[in-house]
Amino acid sequence: MKFIDEKFLLHSRAAQRLYRQFAEPEPIFDYHCHLSPKDIAEDRRFRNLFEIWLEGDHYKWRAMRANGAPEKFCTGEAAPYEKFRAWAATAPRLLRNPLYHWTHLELKRYFGVDELLDERSAARIWKKANEQLARPDFSARGILKKFNVAALCTTDDPTDDLAHHKKIAADRAATRVYPAFRPDKALGVGQPAAFNAWVGRLEEAAGADIANMGDFVAALRKRHDYFHAQGCRLSDHGLTHCPASPCSDKKAAAIFARARGGRAASPEEREQFGTSMMLHFGRWDAEKGWVKQLHLGALRNNNTRLVEQLGPDTGFDGIGDFPQAQALERYLDSLEWEGCLPKVIVYNSNPVDNYAFASVIGSFQGGPAPGKMQFGSGWWFLDQKEGIEWQLNALSNIGLLSRFVGMVTDSRSFMSYPRHEYFRRVLCNLIGREMERGELPDDPALLGAMIRGICYDNARRYLALPEPPRA
Ligand SMILES: [Zn+2]
Repeated sequence: MKFIDEKFLLHSRAAQRLYRQFAEPEPIFDYHCHLSPKDIAEDRRFRNLFEIWLEGDHYKWRAMRANGAPEKFCTGEAAPYEKFRAWAATAPRLLRNPLYHWTHLELKRYFGVDELLDERSAARIWKKANEQLARPDFSARGILKKFNVAALCTTDDPTDDLAHHKKIAADRAATRVYPAFRPDKALGVGQPAAFNAWVGRLEEAAGADIANMGDFVAALRKRHDYFHAQGCRLSDHGLTHCPASPCSDKKAAAIFARARGGRAASPEEREQFGTSMMLHFGRWDAEKGWVKQLHLGALRNNNTRLVEQLGPDTGFDGIGDFPQAQALERYLDSLEWEGCLPKVIVYNSNPVDNYAFASVIGSFQGGPAPGKMQFGSGWWFLDQKEGIEWQLNALSNIGLLSRFVGMVTDSRSFMSYPRHEYFRRVLCNLIGREMERGELPDDPALLGAMIRGICYDNARRYLALPEPPRA
């Protein structure tokens, strides 16, 4: 058997047929990623394989460190080719790690590379990839077109002026690109110095002075309106758990005032302030028909010495074991009680929470649109074959797989689009196997409609993104 051939991950004839007929032709709707809007606006060209593949990839840095590579080859000062060689030397040690699949799938789908990456093949692959990267169809937008990405949503701070998004919309780029509103920094009253610097940027963006909590909420709301006018229909929050300790507006205002004066909020006050803000955000999302994403449970910045040297998002995060279910239920219930629960997608970092998340959201379904509450695709440490299967199985057992809005890359790299192919193969493998066993009907039209929906159309309908404003 060949490694990563056309039958890759598809272990039955039915799975292969379903994939080819219903999954492969569908466009991609990548509604959560961390691509740089600047790169898309400027239609960035990549000078070499390092720039497009290794530049910001903390998954790879972690693997290289685990393989004993010195830091200079990960985030440090080594030359691009030396870093690529260190990655190539790590590759043979990645067997059974999802990076092994992704690496070879990416080399194959982007550059037609059909050999294994290691120290011996490194120079050849570097040359072959770089020759192709010099072509115009390998620009940022060229790649999005090549992978049939119909639409994508980036991840943006409320203080961002969205100038790059405006440029992309004005160019009528083939891939529609939308911002997503991620106000994590608005909850930062535990770290007054960073918080106050950010409030300064918010004042500038909103064109208003922020003297008190009322001004703060009004400025954020103004930014929410601004994002909406730019076509945004999606918010996102990265939290250890849902804050679920309601307090009075007066109390929230006092916590805000103290943080503005340089005094850090206590853990209990952070929870109260976070709850207050998350309720505001939830109401605004509901009012405007947005989708709220909750990424819950990551344990971040775990290596203090290296995070101080290298900064956040450099590969020192892990899976947290925070209690989730009750806090999530309380948060959703508060919004539901007020009649302002928006559409919500919850993503868990800890696989232990799969069934809890899938079941909690089931209590809040209902409304004119199907699948209002979504259990999101396998995230971060779980976006591999096993994690994807776990998520699909938990969702199938507890909710409606047919209404699932599908996979996202959640990636910083333009090289991650084969993740959708990977997901679709795992999905079709599950469905095809059960069809062959007689556990699902031998009815390709019925199964195919579900697969098509999960690959693309459910997300398109669910997010209901408008044509981007062309002004
Ligand atoms: Zn993300």
